[in-house]
Amino acid sequence: MTDYSDRYPTQFPDCGFDTQAVRAGHERTHEGEHAEAIFPTSSYVFRSAAEAAARFSGDEDGNVYSRYTNPTVRTFEQRLAALECGQACAATASGMAAIYAVCMAHLQSGDHLLSSRSVFGSTNVLFEKFLRKFDIQVTYVDLLDLEAWEQALQDNTKLLFLESPSNPVIEVADIKAIADLAHANNALLVVDNCFCTPAIQQPLTFGADLVTHSATKYIDGQGRCIGGAVIGSDELIEPVVGVLRSAGPTMSPFNAWVFTKGLETLSLRMKAHSDNALQLAQWLQQQPAVLQVNYAGLPQHPQYELAQKQQKLPGGVLSFEVRGGQAAAWQVMDATRLISITANLGDAKTTITHPATTTHSRLTEEEREGANIGPGLLRIAVGLECVDDVIKDLDRGLSELA
Ligand SMILES: *Cc1c(COP(=O)(O)O)cnc(C)c1O
Repeated sequence: MTDYSDRYPTQFPDCGFDTQAVRAGHERTHEGEHAEAIFPTSSYVFRSAAEAAARFSGDEDGNVYSRYTNPTVRTFEQRLAALECGQACAATASGMAAIYAVCMAHLQSGDHLLSSRSVFGSTNVLFEKFLRKFDIQVTYVDLLDLEAWEQALQDNTKLLFLESPSNPVIEVADIKAIADLAHANNALLVVDNCFCTPAIQQPLTFGADLVTHSATKYIDGQGRCIGGAVIGSDELIEPVVGVLRSAGPTMSPFNAWVFTKGLETLSLRMKAHSDNALQLAQWLQQQPAVLQVNYAGLPQHPQYELAQKQQKLPGGVLSFEVRGGQAAAWQVMDATRLISITANLGDAKTTITHPATTTHSRLTEEEREGANIGPGLLRIAVGLECVDDVIKDLDRGLSELA
């Protein structure tokens, strides 16, 4: 049996992002495998009754059951924690399980949650339908309105929650300013970092306390597995792990293995997504049938300067408004032959969606208007195809409108 740990460390604290993305968290077994192994096992054996007792009591470290710990999942957790500049990470069965576990761990009845109005649809349902059942108050504010965030704080506000950039109109939140407001109120700031990933934005370095991920999106990057994660300090992750162990929405080893492989190419892919999205945004701006393009990489974007400071790259998601409302927007979508019509994002394949009639159809028309989600708005998550082909695919419908 060879122990490889002296020659092949598991942590690379003095190395850069891409080195950590490729190497952090991998504990080699005595087989000396170069790639990370998958451990599809539900439980673990003990050498004796006494060892079993010590593992169960926690007197001795080690695996007991894969709802608690699994070596493949641990590799993913350690790697993602390193990339987000966090001490600890808890992997979850989905992005929603990550947000759910944060709420269960850090809120109790009588508490108040203050959230950005522009959050993922299921996040909104979780807050409205389920948190309220347990007497947790929820209020929503405009992502960009710092005064509204400050005024909405209450003595019992325990969590602030936001996504940046927002979906689908790509507003960029000032994470540092909102973290400062949270901390002045003894509350925690949670940032859903799904759109950027740590390759673009590391919210903990701007003062956020917890980061959540839907690994389903860019971390997988090829639209295969559902998963999520929560990253933060040891102290804040410990109660999240407690919820996951007892409630059960933990990550499967196979999915952890796929996501770990995704992390290795994350910054390359995010750069390619961003390059393609910028080219598409610039082309869209020149089209007569396009009234408005929302993309943080355009100098015309209202939070361009902030995005330059907070994000390493503008990211892969943009939206644009076509002249002619819903009929025109649907015409552009239906004229595509390459781009996939689906609300998913973070895939190598470019996707297009009409927010007003899909992801944001639950809102009233006034709410949509207030959020700038007009009937002519289309959202694109730009993939890794040749961007000229994506442009051609959109031009088919757009040139008919002009
Ligand atoms: C998809 C998504 C989620 C939910 O993740 P699942 O893995 O689908 O549960 C949460 N937040 C954002 C911003 C998302 O895009």
